[in-house]
Amino acid sequence: MEKYSSLEVIRTGLKQGEITCLSLVNHYLDNIEKKSHLNVFLEVYAEEARQRAEVIDAKLADGSAGRLAGMIVGIKDVLCLKDHGLQGGSRILDGFSSQFTGTAVQKLLDEDAIIIGRQNCDEFAMGSSNENSAFGPVLNDIDNERVPGGSSGGSAVAVQADMCLISLGSDTGGSVRQPAAFCGIIGLKPTYSRISRHGLIAYGSSFDVIGVFSKTIEDNALVLEIIAGADDFDSTVSQKDVPAYSAELSIGTQKKYKIAYLKETLHTEGLDSEIKERTLATLKKLKDDGHEVEEVSFPLLDYVLPTYYILTTAEASSNLSRYDGVKYGYRSENAEDLASMYKKTRTEGFGKEVQRRIMLGTFVLSASYYDAYYNKAQKVRRMIRDATKSLLQKHDFILLPTTPTAAFKIGEHSSHPLEMYLADLFTVQSSVAGTPAISIPNGNSREGLPIGLQIMADDFKEAELFAFSKYLLN
Ligand code: GLN
Repeated sequence: MEKYSSLEVIRTGLKQGEITCLSLVNHYLDNIEKKSHLNVFLEVYAEEARQRAEVIDAKLADGSAGRLAGMIVGIKDVLCLKDHGLQGGSRILDGFSSQFTGTAVQKLLDEDAIIIGRQNCDEFAMGSSNENSAFGPVLNDIDNERVPGGSSGGSAVAVQADMCLISLGSDTGGSVRQPAAFCGIIGLKPTYSRISRHGLIAYGSSFDVIGVFSKTIEDNALVLEIIAGADDFDSTVSQKDVPAYSAELSIGTQKKYKIAYLKETLHTEGLDSEIKERTLATLKKLKDDGHEVEEVSFPLLDYVLPTYYILTTAEASSNLSRYDGVKYGYRSENAEDLASMYKKTRTEGFGKEVQRRIMLGTFVLSASYYDAYYNKAQKVRRMIRDATKSLLQKHDFILLPTTPTAAFKIGEHSSHPLEMYLADLFTVQSSVAGTPAISIPNGNSREGLPIGLQIMADDFKEAELFAFSKYLLN
């Protein structure tokens, strides 16, 4: 069976009787098996997916199928699916099974999507290379010596390597956009609060957003349209109406846009020259096509990463305090008393990077440093948000590279946390600001590695992001 690039192609195949949901599921299951060396899935729900496929095939036959019939989805190991394992890529949740299904996943199921399995990721979504998983690294399908990006590395490679059509990941500082760029696919981080976080394992709660990986803009738009919106289980979710994103995709071809690019991003030391060239080439093409393209300055760029890492580690240190071995998950067997049970469980259950972040977070929240770090970072966050929004009110979009380099080699940065954090340099701005952003493919390097282009827009302008991305990809 050929590679399926979009739900539309699948729908046509289903309608013409060339395929069934069952044959489709079998096709993806074969690929998952053939490419098991990539280490993408932590668990595959083969039998269950086949059974559901038969039910949906029957619904298709009698005309009662939902809007996502034929869509086979993988979910990052941070999203709850009732009675299925969930570990956040960590040993500390050994043996844990979800007691409920998260809202976004439930909404997909309600429209007859099929969930094929849960995907490997950096432990508790902390990382940029998928090397921090307790279950080993995920390999990039384009070059198996390279990382797929992180933390949603498994979810990105699953779409890249045709193991499912769509993946749901999570993006706190770039975890959907950066791996999408490294794998040559599309990755959307919607506006903070656009999608309910109910049933998403918390990392940095004021940053966490569920994101969507796809090969086409149409599929990405349709999935967002279905999973976004108000939810009684999440008091922080936006009550705004959800537009019919997938019906508004053609507006991009009719409009002339005002586009900004940030001088500082293109002059960053460490920005790969080919990525710079490709970004400039896209900007030039836009200008030639009659759009207004303006260079603007964003002097706060240097403060974005430190702000992100102070605030997210603070939030993580609090969020991860629940993993203590008492009620669920892993518990050390070597403990003598209650205190040593907590200590040993957390020492043995968490990996190095997670421990590092819990310590950093605890430090910035400690009484003597709270004002100097946490409070100050909150103020800087507000400045970054204001400055970003002010640019986005004057321009429709900000364009920048998704990442400073293409996919790097496994092990290249793993012993240098700061070097690794720099992989997020361009993605954290919209995470700190809470605004939406998308990464779309922008060609390949001479070595054949995918390059991503990131587009940022103002709050709740996902429809515009999709339409503009579609125009750029055509
Ligand atoms: N790489 C970033 C981090 O480690 C982003 C992770 C994410 O978005 N979940 O925090």
